[in-house]
Amino acid sequence: MPGERRDLVIAGSGVAGLSAAVYAARADLDPLVLEGDEPGGQLTLTTDVENFLGFPDGVGGMELIQRGKEQAERFGAEFQHGSIETAAVDGQPLELTLSTGETLRTRALIVATGASARWVGAENEDELMGYGLSTCATCDGAFHRGDDVFVVGGGDSAMEEALFLAKFADSVTVVHRRDELRASEIMADRAREHEDIQFRWNTELRALHGSQEEGVTGATVVSHPDGHPTQKAAEGVDVETERVDVGGVFYGIGHTPNTAFLEETGVELDADGYVVTQTDETGRATAETAVEGVFAAGDVADPSYRQAITAAGTGSMAALDAEAYLERIENERRTAVETTA
Ligand code: NAP
Repeated sequence: MPGERRDLVIAGSGVAGLSAAVYAARADLDPLVLEGDEPGGQLTLTTDVENFLGFPDGVGGMELIQRGKEQAERFGAEFQHGSIETAAVDGQPLELTLSTGETLRTRALIVATGASARWVGAENEDELMGYGLSTCATCDGAFHRGDDVFVVGGGDSAMEEALFLAKFADSVTVVHRRDELRASEIMADRAREHEDIQFRWNTELRALHGSQEEGVTGATVVSHPDGHPTQKAAEGVDVETERVDVGGVFYGIGHTPNTAFLEETGVELDADGYVVTQTDETGRATAETAVEGVFAAGDVADPSYRQAITAAGTGSMAALDAEAYLERIENERRTAVETTA
């Protein structure tokens, strides 16, 4: 209920948030899950998930999320629309202002707000995302056996996607807006040396073709020998336009962690905005952040693995750490009451 004081709020309803909700609800913490701006998270943008343990025939991304939500609700987790706009976390209780304008007070917070894959802004990408257009080669690469595919981007993500896709696709073409890669030397070399990976330099994606029934069937690209063709075209410079037949397009232009509300709160963020989780006194990983009572799970704290299964794992870690924290502060409160009595 809005305005109510909670023991535990979980921000985000992707795999990490749902996994945390299942664990927390089973521990009788009555978690409230804020569904966020993209309810269900990135999995709702993919079709079949074939690498989540326990589903030998694969499972739809949306179905996996729906099942996770039902599982959390079965144990008593509550769900509410909205996301956190501002967080005051420098003392108990933590105070959260929501996008709905409501204020929530809570003793613990699990941040599972994810990272949003950046989109290029090409025509038809809304319609074709999940239908041959993807932001995750590990999730969707195996559906492109024998296809010619495009990977957009010039960083490590794009190289990683291209190398992964080369196992399935007939050919992989990296489409990059400049003639120099941003990727690390080692990743760039691996991609350059792969016989099934080609590069289209100084090129950007303008439009995708196809339908939800047929999937992606082609792409229109623009190019200019000096790079950044879209910008050039906007400045009135002539650019070359070409339509190419492709059976799949993958975006690898980076992710943005959803942590704007944590800036200036004391929660440590790395240079790219990802939450830095802390190690305990023995050096082991925890889901704790630099601020007491605030925990993090899933892609919001993971620029490296970004898998549904790892998000589920860190979601459970965050719930277990939050449970231990709530127990500790409750014991401290009782001791303080007994001492003053
Ligand atoms: P990134 O390093 O920021 O690279 C993004 C790439 O996409 C750049 O080449 C950029 O072009 C291009 N790009 C950005 N916006 C674009 C747009 N609107 N249209 C077309 N192209 C666009 O992101 P990342 O590759 O995701 O890597 C992020 C961090 O994670 C890096 O530190 C990386 O090393 C790390 N990472 C490591 C690994 C690994 O080691 N296995 C794997 C993945 C990521 P410009 O170059 O022209 O800016």
